[in-house]
Amino acid sequence: MLQLYVREPNDLTIRNVESLRRPENDEVKIKVSVGGICGSDLSFLNGKFTHGTYPLTPGHELVGTIIECGDKALYEVGTRVVVLPNTYCGTCAYCQKGQTNICANKQSFGINKDGGFAEEFVLSSKFVLPLFDELTDDRAVIIEPFAVVVRAFKKVTITKGTSVAIIGGGTIGLLAAALANYLGADVTVTDINPKKHSIVEELGPVRAVYPEAIEGETFDIVIEAAGTVASFKQAVQAIKPGGSMVAVGIVPDVEIPATQIVRNDQTIYGSIIYRFPEDYEETIAYLKDPDLYIDPIFSLTFPIRQYETAFEKAQSGDYAKITLDFKK
Ligand SMILES: [Zn+2]
Ligand SMILES: [Zn+2]
Repeated sequence: MLQLYVREPNDLTIRNVESLRRPENDEVKIKVSVGGICGSDLSFLNGKFTHGTYPLTPGHELVGTIIECGDKALYEVGTRVVVLPNTYCGTCAYCQKGQTNICANKQSFGINKDGGFAEEFVLSSKFVLPLFDELTDDRAVIIEPFAVVVRAFKKVTITKGTSVAIIGGGTIGLLAAALANYLGADVTVTDINPKKHSIVEELGPVRAVYPEAIEGETFDIVIEAAGTVASFKQAVQAIKPGGSMVAVGIVPDVEIPATQIVRNDQTIYGSIIYRFPEDYEETIAYLKDPDLYIDPIFSLTFPIRQYETAFEKAQSGDYAKITLDFKK
């Protein structure tokens, strides 16, 4: 069974694990079919997370099929599932209120708990959700990052004609652009990379610009999805009086123009991952609608043995979602 493995920062390798342990109690073993490479996989590999633990198997955007069950597993062998890679305890004060995204005992697959860039992976069946038949594995792999956007959008109201700026054209920014466009908003995406502009423009009537092009322009809603000090500052400047911003990118501390925010009656929200299962279920419901157009967000796919090329391409920043195919 092939498995990717990060021994220490900047040391990614592949290894053959003879036999993976059997699932116990509520656990299931899944045969992974597709895995998406995420910006956070790169941050983990590059040693940028203070909460990252090494050595570890990376990978958290995962889809597969259950091939073995513990005696208390919630689903049967043969069920196709998507993985919830941020665990929740179900008993802390936040979980009790349904706020599983800020669970006090949260662990993250591929960051501080073994992830699933492997042919097989054992995890609690609490952390998987079945897929509907028409949703292919290749498409279902977008559920995890898309759920981040679905949660973030709940902080604000985006409908027909809302002017929305999305700062940063990474996977999250592109998915936010696709969803805002689907909801009828007037969408502008900023990115420093012209290659991202072409992907944005394939999404439909969505404007792609360099960050400096929106100086002085203001928007009802701003989604910060780049996570840098400069992009966060720009996002705050781009909020219309009375408007709101949702910060999704993991950003270093930034000085905020508090006077502007008070005088202009503005709101800045933070939003972290998703609540389970509600945000996953809503994301899956969106994916049922063929009018939600996200095809350009899938850039390249590599078999697991070509993981080095896949990670190199992901690191380049020139593509949208790059996936690993574990069936080949
Ligand atoms: Zn991710
Ligand atoms: Zn909890």
